[in-house]
Amino acid sequence: MLEEFKTIKDLEKYFSTEDTARQYLENYRWLNNPVCPKCGSRYYYILRTVKQYCCKTCRKNYSVRVGTIFDNSAVPLSKWFTAIFLLSNDRRSMSSVQVGEWIGVTQKTAWFMNHRIRTMMNTNNVELMEGIIQMDELYTGGKKDKVSKSRKEKMIAGSGSVGKIPVIGIAETETGKKRYFVSDEVTAGSIESIIINNVSKDSILVTDGSPLYTTVGKEFNNHIALNHSKNEFGKDGYHSNDIEGSFRHFRGYLDGTYKGMVRSWHLQKYANEFIYKNNRREKVVLALSKAKKPAVILKTILTPENLKKVLRYRDLVRLNPNHNRKWDLQEAC
Ligand SMILES: [Zn+2]
Repeated sequence: MLEEFKTIKDLEKYFSTEDTARQYLENYRWLNNPVCPKCGSRYYYILRTVKQYCCKTCRKNYSVRVGTIFDNSAVPLSKWFTAIFLLSNDRRSMSSVQVGEWIGVTQKTAWFMNHRIRTMMNTNNVELMEGIIQMDELYTGGKKDKVSKSRKEKMIAGSGSVGKIPVIGIAETETGKKRYFVSDEVTAGSIESIIINNVSKDSILVTDGSPLYTTVGKEFNNHIALNHSKNEFGKDGYHSNDIEGSFRHFRGYLDGTYKGMVRSWHLQKYANEFIYKNNRREKVVLALSKAKKPAVILKTILTPENLKKVLRYRDLVRLNPNHNRKWDLQEAC
């Protein structure tokens, strides 16, 4: 089985027929021994005309797509693989307009595909980060969202963070791994719950001088608060340059590819995509061949926990608070 696709042309050439793509996925998922996704039986009939299987035990028909992000999609698997390659291959990412043009589907279809692929980029962190930990907040977006008149007035009257969406970022200095959390609000309480769930208390916390971190900082081995307003950007070799640099890249990623059009209710998924690439680029992908990334994502797609949660189009659209308005169904990124 070919795992190395050095260029997009290699990938498109290899998956030139739908049968090749289906067999590739069947090999990945079942090692060519189909298992009924409903009852787990290994006994089946082959339904050649529809390229499916029928379970001998529970009599259900199934294909290799069941339970995956390819489920209930009319888009050929070969196009899905190309979309995965496009979205995962470049740190700058690609908008649904670009992906749609490349693989020959509508922007709306590509938008949904991109979001399904993005849900697979959730790194599901369970381990606590440790060592020297940098933390900061970023206020982004929000400008293009439809907001109520009163909120708009507040946004115009206020400045800086008013009307923007906060993203709380944590960076583990030694490994360069980062995590982003899109939050409705930034308070000492919301920050505390994020830190406690993600950072080991043996760590050294490096933040700016914001009072948000003062109380929770006492729970850690040490808390270095850098007073940025007094031009203090480093102390005893500690700094928060990594998380600040990462935020600059994240802004560039949102403004560059997505032209600042990302809606607040989808921002966490875009943050996950950005962080997935950041964390893999530095730790895993460089060690593997660059071309193995689609396979890495295919493995992620087929993990038991991801097979249970396939994003449905109507659930995605419902995230939009204005989803019942027809003109809001089309989202631009
Ligand atoms: Zn069955």
